[in-house]
Amino acid sequence: MQTPMRPPLRMIDLAADRDPGFQTEVAHESGQLLESCYQCGNCTAGCVYTLDYDFPVHQVMRLVQLGLREQALSCRSVWLCATCQACTTRCPNNIDVARVMDVLRHMARRAGFAPEASVKTFTDSFLASVAKHGRVFEAGLAAVFALKGGKPLQDAGLGLPMLTRGKLSLTPHEPGGHGKAEVAAIFSRFHRFAVQGASAHSPDATPCGCKTEDKG
Ligand code: SF4
Ligand code: SF4
Repeated sequence: MQTPMRPPLRMIDLAADRDPGFQTEVAHESGQLLESCYQCGNCTAGCVYTLDYDFPVHQVMRLVQLGLREQALSCRSVWLCATCQACTTRCPNNIDVARVMDVLRHMARRAGFAPEASVKTFTDSFLASVAKHGRVFEAGLAAVFALKGGKPLQDAGLGLPMLTRGKLSLTPHEPGGHGKAEVAAIFSRFHRFAVQGASAHSPDATPCGCKTEDKG
């Protein structure tokens, strides 16, 4: 299998790029003792996506420690992270590294960065589908994702066999009873808290990214 090429990294100017408050912000949101990372690289050694990352996960940790806000929030790695927790289980200092990656992804959304646009498009489409139907409507999600990605026929070859074998439905199966209303209430609570949290950082951004314009 061919190893994917890493995109070129831009030069870091420590003196100009450093934001001394960034580590504290990430530590506060993640609840992790970030300064205890001593760069052993155990997290990266267990990360399945290292070959696709622009910064391996231990370097993402270092970006945070150095206060390199823009580099950390604009990197592809936080969007490609699968939240598999391998890094967390391997850290000798008990840092929940996957949680840190998750927090960085939320911060990136609020700051308007989405270098992996298709990941953000899929996540947004998935959440919109769950919010609308109370659970994901797979056929609708696939169609919306394909259209938003500008590739309307990308999964057409898979869709037809799945439909004929009953693996995909053309209509949503919404939860019965109070299920749909309960899911809607979760989204409503999230948006309420998200807007409160986001307004502390930026007046026109929300952590879910639903009302922001992407920069990347
Ligand atoms: S949680 Fe993310 S960063 Fe950690 S090992 Fe899994 S893919 Fe890599
Ligand atoms: S495993 Fe833990 S201590 Fe080692 S580099 Fe990763 S985060 Fe830092």
